[in-house]
Amino acid sequence: MNWKAETDPRVVIAWALEHYPGLLMTSAFNLNGVVLLELAAQAGYRGEVVFVDTGYHFPETLQTRDRLQERYPQMHFVTLKANLPEEAWGKERYRTDPDGCCAARKVAPLRAYLAQKNPPALLNARSRDQAKTRAHLGFLEPGERLRINPLAFWDRPALEAFAKAHNLPVNPLYWSGFFSIGCWPCTRAVRPGEEVRAGRWAGRGKTECGLWEGDQAL
Ligand code: SF4
Repeated sequence: MNWKAETDPRVVIAWALEHYPGLLMTSAFNLNGVVLLELAAQAGYRGEVVFVDTGYHFPETLQTRDRLQERYPQMHFVTLKANLPEEAWGKERYRTDPDGCCAARKVAPLRAYLAQKNPPALLNARSRDQAKTRAHLGFLEPGERLRINPLAFWDRPALEAFAKAHNLPVNPLYWSGFFSIGCWPCTRAVRPGEEVRAGRWAGRGKTECGLWEGDQAL
């Protein structure tokens, strides 16, 4: 393949479907995720859309998932949830140990699911302009499990324009400045001049939930 930054993401997705027919899509239903779903639908994706419910999502996020599930009946939406006895585990661990909280509520359920399904590749919606830590993202990330990033080179104006042109059900919080939406205890609106993910774990020295470290992805 001879891909460039301006290559249509649908070309990348179609290639992925041809070469890795058992691939899975993971999503948190942020703007990127919603756009990727539509592009994947147009490219013929009929597989799973895996979401990890930490128990702390905004109601708007769960409603967005439900709206997307209705919009794409040809896909199979899977919601994973950690099995954590609150009394033994600590109800508000995100305050004192956000890494441990993410590890237990996000990473562990997805790891277990991927270990069971063993997909050959993961389709996901990250893009370079989301954060400095993602500035070198490419269409393909080799590893133990290949990660395919069709939106790597799209920026926020392009994503918004696509979402509007296709009347996509974007999480309503997005339009209030929640450009990257995770759990409510760890997400705030982005301020003028900040990067897209600045509202995640703000002031806690944490930038990722851990799903992108090693072999896992969301
Ligand atoms: S984002 Fe916050 S509440 Fe959600 S799993 Fe991570 S630490 Fe816990």
